[in-house]
Amino acid sequence: MSIEQIKSSCLFCSAGCGIIIDMKDGKPVKISGDPDSPVNKGVMCPVGMSAIEQSKNPNRLKYPLKRIGKKGEGKWERISWDEALDTIAEKLGNIKEKHGAKSVLFMRGGTKGYNDSVLLRFANAFGSPNTSMAAPICFLPTLRAHFTTYGYWSMPDYENTDCIMMWGVNGKATSIPDSVRSANANSNGAKLIVIDPFESYYAKKADIWVKLRPGSDLALALAIINVIIEENLYDKDFVENWTVGFDKLKKHVKEYTPEKMSEITWVSPETIREVARLYSKTSPACLISGNGIEQSLNSFQTARATCILRALTGNLSKKGGDIDWDELPVVSAASRELWLNGLLSDEDRSQSISASEKMLPGNPYELHQDITKSILDGEPYKLHGMFITGGNPVQSHADSQRIYDALKEVDFLVVNEHYMTATANLADIVLPAATHLEHDRIHVAEFVPTLSIIQKVTQVEECRSDIDIFNDLAHKMGMGDLFWKNSKEFLDHLLEPSGMNFDEFRKVGFIASKKKYDIYKENGFDTPSNKVELYSSLLEDWGFDPLPIHKEQPESPFSEPELAKEYPLVMTSVKLIPYKHSAGRQVESLRKIHPEPLARINPKTAKEYGIIDKEIMIVENKRGKVKFRAKLMESVDPRVVIVDYGWWYPEKEKEEDYWSKSNVNMLTFSGKPYASEMGSSTIRGLLCKVSPE
Ligand code: SF4
Repeated sequence: MSIEQIKSSCLFCSAGCGIIIDMKDGKPVKISGDPDSPVNKGVMCPVGMSAIEQSKNPNRLKYPLKRIGKKGEGKWERISWDEALDTIAEKLGNIKEKHGAKSVLFMRGGTKGYNDSVLLRFANAFGSPNTSMAAPICFLPTLRAHFTTYGYWSMPDYENTDCIMMWGVNGKATSIPDSVRSANANSNGAKLIVIDPFESYYAKKADIWVKLRPGSDLALALAIINVIIEENLYDKDFVENWTVGFDKLKKHVKEYTPEKMSEITWVSPETIREVARLYSKTSPACLISGNGIEQSLNSFQTARATCILRALTGNLSKKGGDIDWDELPVVSAASRELWLNGLLSDEDRSQSISASEKMLPGNPYELHQDITKSILDGEPYKLHGMFITGGNPVQSHADSQRIYDALKEVDFLVVNEHYMTATANLADIVLPAATHLEHDRIHVAEFVPTLSIIQKVTQVEECRSDIDIFNDLAHKMGMGDLFWKNSKEFLDHLLEPSGMNFDEFRKVGFIASKKKYDIYKENGFDTPSNKVELYSSLLEDWGFDPLPIHKEQPESPFSEPELAKEYPLVMTSVKLIPYKHSAGRQVESLRKIHPEPLARINPKTAKEYGIIDKEIMIVENKRGKVKFRAKLMESVDPRVVIVDYGWWYPEKEKEEDYWSKSNVNMLTFSGKPYASEMGSSTIRGLLCKVSPE
């Protein structure tokens, strides 16, 4: 039988790479990158390549399950979808009646576009203001900083740039579209500046690799701004005509001299000056940042500082700089109407568990630290029910033990997942989620905005899409009039602005957005002053620092020198190529690439503490101990330990510590102080000590 090829998109992360699925005898037999896709141009990561293996993985959740043992004991009974949805409807309904709708929280994991929209719509229809996601430590600090400073989310125009500054981002592991485009730009001669404590693939290729102390990013950014201003390297025309607050900024950064900041960033004054000069003198230049700057007390303000750098160098909306894209003809996944936000009043929202945090207005989520406080301490009130879809907070969020304890405690927990994770293992009902091979839908790719098709090519037992699950549950709970007859009706609705229905869009496959240049020249920037707000009037009005101020994070060698005597090293984490966050450890082909969790340490430091290459070592702080295999690397700063993020051992599910023994979040910190604008916890740059096992 001949091979039929079907175009679709990968949804193991929000990048949404275009894929081609080879079908033989009605079954998917091969996945390859779609060379026509503007998103990934045919390139894929190993995670995307493993889709068929994952779809058929014997460890997949295939049927709804009901817990019959104690929480975490791993005893389950297979039930029908009807029983699962009836049970969820009844339990959530009872909690709502007894404790109010707000006592149920709806959480999603890694963002998946319209899955998030459907979950938020369900929460609003149910009447709860309590929703949560990983946003405070992933993308939201950056997104809010961009909008606050210049009114759009800027993205690098790699195809036309002469210089790329990569700040706290490892695109090779986390974003194939960024990686492919920046690699092409670099081979075409674009300069590369990489700011990262870890010698990533791009750090090796960089013209300047800046190996800063983990957690000191804002201090470094302010020192670079200082040099650009002091040495008159900024774009005077742009600054004069299109920014506000330059004089205040100039005065503010005077104290952040390269010499002073060198002491706390561990980057030499010469390197700081070199970076400032290369970045500002090479035009056009673009700047991309990642999770490396988003997981600390200074998350939002560090992102603000990168926005200021883009503006000072005149790269905003410039060809080859940091640009915006045209809107796509689709109902946006971020549409408040799609979320049915109007169903809840301001009074309802003021009752959310994080309302008293007084973060930036409009943050649509509750903080993980408030979820645990609610469940374990009853403050400000107790959550009694949770619905988690596509998320594994036990591995992914700061202070895992506290999250584990809270999920063990909550009265009723539903988890919708591909595999039995440590989070799912604490649930009352587990639902089997479909992968992108197993349902129809659309997706807007994140890094090269493209409206893309996802086509169902197989069915795995009883797995279902999030859209179907929430739609059906809404009907069971008497909220059907706020949802759709079926997912097809939903997809047709999303596509209305394009003038196509879903079946017509199948034939088109994708619609690429277009780059926009000089967007401000006609109507200015979308800020209160219509200019780039170096000094932010919005932040001032909202009661936050209008200029970025470096605050030393908790448990650093500078904030707690006494603690540093006991825990003399600084720990940070990395995400590596074959995994997405905590996902993928069950997949043989991925596990072969990276079989075990590693801790990277300088050979001198290893010798000092008796650590032997490739042997097990312990990384420890006042919250606990975790184990990694030692990897001795000259490139690691002797004061630093760099561990893998997101590790657990699905194959050792019977062992009590299978989720915790190599989980870096057993050591991370969710308490105060955290970023006041966002609630970002401090996950990187914490003090630790090491020893051999
Ligand atoms: S980067 Fe994301 S979308 Fe692209 S192939 Fe990998 S997992 Fe799939």
